[in-house]
Amino acid sequence: MNIALIAHDKKKRDIINFSIAYEHILKNHQLFATGTTGQKISDEAGLDVYRFQSGPIGGDQQIGAKIASNEMDVVIFLRDPLTAQPHEPDVSALMRLCDVHLIPLATNIAAAEIVIRALANGDFSWREIIKQREEEGKYQ
Ligand code: PGA
Repeated sequence: MNIALIAHDKKKRDIINFSIAYEHILKNHQLFATGTTGQKISDEAGLDVYRFQSGPIGGDQQIGAKIASNEMDVVIFLRDPLTAQPHEPDVSALMRLCDVHLIPLATNIAAAEIVIRALANGDFSWREIIKQREEEGKYQ
């Protein structure tokens, strides 16, 4: 599965701890992240992460483009709901695209815990079927 990991600054510690705790699950998947989040996950959890640009300069939109192309299976985006973000329109756009394309999205650590367990259980294997159908032109 292709998994996107993003965390606003005040949630960076949470995503690092999450990545360390679930390294044994995450290492079995292709990981993508916005720039700073990805660097920290890579440095502190030792995971291999493809890094897009930093969120405020376009990383959220790059991940959104992957979602629109049906190339992202799960998004874990630990948002900071108490701090204004200069790139709020990009954040909203990314979340909207998850809803448009039915991509599982966790926006806080409590939901992320559920999503990672579901991932480990294979509960998102329906994504493989959808991707296969789309490749065959049977699903829009
Ligand atoms: P960052 O971006 O990982 O580069 O800090 C996250 C964000 O604020 O969207």
